[in-house]
Amino acid sequence: MKAFLLDIDGTTLLGADPLPGAQAFVTWLRAEGIPHLWMTNNTSRSRSAWLARLEAAGLEPRPEELYTSGDATIEYLGAHHPEARIYLVGPQELRGDFEAAGLNVVEAEADTVVLAYDVELTYAKIRTAALLLQEGAAFFATHPDVTCPTPEGPIPDVGSFLAMFELACGRTPVVIGKPEATMAAGALARLGVEAHEAVMVGDRLATDLAMARRAGLMGCLVLSGVTAQDELFGATAQPDHVFADLAAVHDWARTAVV
Ligand SMILES: [Mg+2]
Repeated sequence: MKAFLLDIDGTTLLGADPLPGAQAFVTWLRAEGIPHLWMTNNTSRSRSAWLARLEAAGLEPRPEELYTSGDATIEYLGAHHPEARIYLVGPQELRGDFEAAGLNVVEAEADTVVLAYDVELTYAKIRTAALLLQEGAAFFATHPDVTCPTPEGPIPDVGSFLAMFELACGRTPVVIGKPEATMAAGALARLGVEAHEAVMVGDRLATDLAMARRAGLMGCLVLSGVTAQDELFGATAQPDHVFADLAAVHDWARTAVV
């Protein structure tokens, strides 16, 4: 185990607070010189907002320890479609990250639609994106999650928006974030490790654990988030290990590493 990939919501944080063991585990990883990367599909926030959230939870994140599906999408487009004229269906602060990376985000004459977790979604944006897709624009989505958990209950996320565009336009996107191997490859490249040397820890079978399976990482499920133990029966993306929370992952890693 040369590196850990840690999901954020339901694994590291619950709302604004660190989940049990999160701070101690990260402190231990740093002391052992084992790199980690916080990975989230949630593109409703900018990188700086995510770093501030981890900082407020006492986790002292370094910028290089964060990798969002927005980062993975920016890297993918920069590598494969650097000239794309992008219509971004996403919040204003995410647009800042795209522009800071040198991508061309436009309001008119776009040839590419990128769908993110747009918590500022309007009908005008839906209309523009739908017309572009019908004209044949390339189509990308930062991640496929159908809902986003909140303390009050699940609310529509990118996967729900995708269903609408599929119904209206008959188009499905290239998805970049978890569970796609694209995001795993980007994370492994950042950490400088091979897939078999990395451990993915997450709370969602369909994204975190499915990505671990597809990309050849060890997959650890924590039960501190959206998945209950009884959901494991019959699930297609089975984890290699199941733990209550990061405190239990820490106990296991301590004995496994030594
Ligand atoms: Mg999660």
